[in-house]
Order: sequence, then structure tokens, then C-alpha cells
Amino acid sequence: GARAAGPAHLRFHSADMEQAIRDRVDMEAMLRHALEHGQLALQYQPRIGLEEGRMKRMVGVEALVRWRHPVLGLVPPARFIPLAEETGMIEELDLWVLRTACARAAAWHAAGLPLGRVSVNLSARQFQHPGLAQRVRAALEDSGLHPAHLEIEITESTVMRDTEVAAGVLRSLKALGVALSIDDFGTGYSSLSYLKQFPIDVLKIDRSFVKDVVIDANDAAITRAIIALAHGLNLEAVAEGVETAEQMAFLQENGCDEIQGFYFSRPLWPEQLEAFMAREAPQPTT
Ligand code: C2E
Ligand code: MG
Ligand code: MG
Ligand code: MG
Repeated sequence: GARAAGPAHLRFHSADMEQAIRDRVDMEAMLRHALEHGQLALQYQPRIGLEEGRMKRMVGVEALVRWRHPVLGLVPPARFIPLAEETGMIEELDLWVLRTACARAAAWHAAGLPLGRVSVNLSARQFQHPGLAQRVRAALEDSGLHPAHLEIEITESTVMRDTEVAAGVLRSLKALGVALSIDDFGTGYSSLSYLKQFPIDVLKIDRSFVKDVVIDANDAAITRAIIALAHGLNLEAVAEGVETAEQMAFLQENGCDEIQGFYFSRPLWPEQLEAFMAREAPQPTT
């Protein structure tokens, strides 16, 4: 192999590195197997509206991918999304997520369940793919999901990487009638002058600010500023990672439109979400 070949000064592989490379190749093969053998699954985390004086209600869900490995168990996305991004497999993975989430959401709407919007995450790679808008259009048409019921989340760092290209991609998606959100907002390096040119609907405040929003004056100031920025640009502000009643109260007092987090619900399997929605739906009178 590579180790035996070449001059000695290029034999830099430590045993650890070789193991890491072998692990990577194994993981890649395992992930491809997972994609092809139905080991990937989606959980859905409710998003809750915070309108003043109204009962809190579910306004949508975020689709989050999981890998159900027969031996490793439930593998979180942080363990395989980065690898899928490096190898390019993320394109297939995101396409599967998009199509699966659209089909599920369309079925729930058809059954009269109060789902609201379903949002899906797109990797930088999928976002830059020239066929993206066509893929999203096909997912909507094949599933029958109304475009207004789909939201696409792109991270701040992805859209800010090349703002000219991003503006064009966002416009092509917006033309389909879907909603667009900037995910993990506040962690990238936003040029605010570009933000106003993007046809977006939602800013999702990153969990890192929400975490200590009640005890850290800086996090509180940043969170208030993002909410004000969103509203100034006619966008909705959504806070992610809300785990306590105190965090929720702070966000409600400061006019945040929606929250998502363990305080209200963890990400749920489809059957669990169906039970959740059944509780949410207006009860029939007898
Ligand atoms: P994200 O899009 O910012 O998703 C929110 C993450 O926060 C999810 O982690 C969710 O489970 C977690 N979360 C929600 N509420 C709370 C809370 O109250 N406390 C804490 N500590 N965490 C909370 P998850 O599912 O592990 O996903 C991590 C990231 O992986 C996502 O961050 C997203 O960037 C990526 N990801 C997930 N699914 C997909 C996918 O289908 N495609 C792509 N490209 N990326 C995905
Ligand atoms: Mg997200
Ligand atoms: Mg997020
Ligand atoms: Mg995040």
C-alpha cells in the first residue's frame, strides 16, 4: 500500500492515521449500505408558535435524519453528516430526506392532521447543486405536498460563502413557493446588506445563544438583536434549543415568534408525532 511505496520521508502515516483512514473507508461503505438498505429514518421536532395571549400551538416540524445501525444503534447526524459531506454522499442523503419528508407531510395533511410546515436541512453541497430547484419541484410534485407547507433550512455559513450565487439559488427556490430559513443564525459572518436581498422568511437563532440567554447578558443582548433584525426585515424569528420555561418566557417577552426545543418536545418518531398531533387537534364535540 501507500506505506511501503515512496521515499522514507514520505512515510508519515502513523498507526493512528492508518486506522482513521480505514475507519473512514468503513464508515463510508457502511453509510452507503445504510442509504441503500433503509437504515436511515427521520424524526420530526415540533415548532411552537409564541403568539401573545394565544394557546401555544404547533406550527410546524423540522425533519432530522437518524441512522439506525443494527449494531451501533441510533447514530446521531453529527457522527455521519460531516463524512457524508466530505464524500459527496450528502447529496443523495439530503435528496432522500427531502423526498421522504415531503411524502410524510403530504400524507399527514391529507389525513387532516394539524402539521403546519415541514422543514428540511440542506447541506452546502446540495445548496450549490445546479439541479436543486428541479429536485425540490419534483419532490413537491411527486408527493403532492403544497409548496407553502415546505420550508428549506440553509445555514448562515452556507449562504454567506458566495452571496451572489446564494441569492440566485434562493430566488429559484422562492419561485417554487416554498419558505426559506437561515439556520444557526449568529454563528456565521453575515453581511447584513446581503441579508436584505435574500428572499428569506425566517431567521433561526442558534442554540448557543439560547443556552445561557437567562443568565448571560451578552447572549440576551444578541438574542434580542437578532429578533429585532428579523422583524425589521419582515422575517420571523425562531429560537432553537429551548430547554426551560425561563428561556421560553424570555423569548416570549422579547417577541420571538416561534420556539423549538426539548422544553416543548424532543424530536419524535412519526408514530409519536401522530399521537402529539392528535392531542393538539381540536377535539370533536359529541
Ligand atoms: P440543526 O438543523 O440546527 O437542528 C437542530 C438540532 O438541535 C437537532 O440536532 C436537534 O435534535 C437539536 N435540538 C433541538 N432541541 C434541542 C434542545 O432543546 N437542546 C439541545 N441540546 N438540542 C436540541 P440533531 O438532530 O442531532 O442534528 C444536528 C444537526 O445535523 C442539525 O442541526 C443539522 O445541521 C444536521 N442535520 C440533521 N438532519 C439533517 C439532514 O437531513 N440533512 C443535513 N444536511 N443536515 C442535517
Ligand atoms: Mg435545522
Ligand atoms: Mg438549527
Ligand atoms: Mg443548530
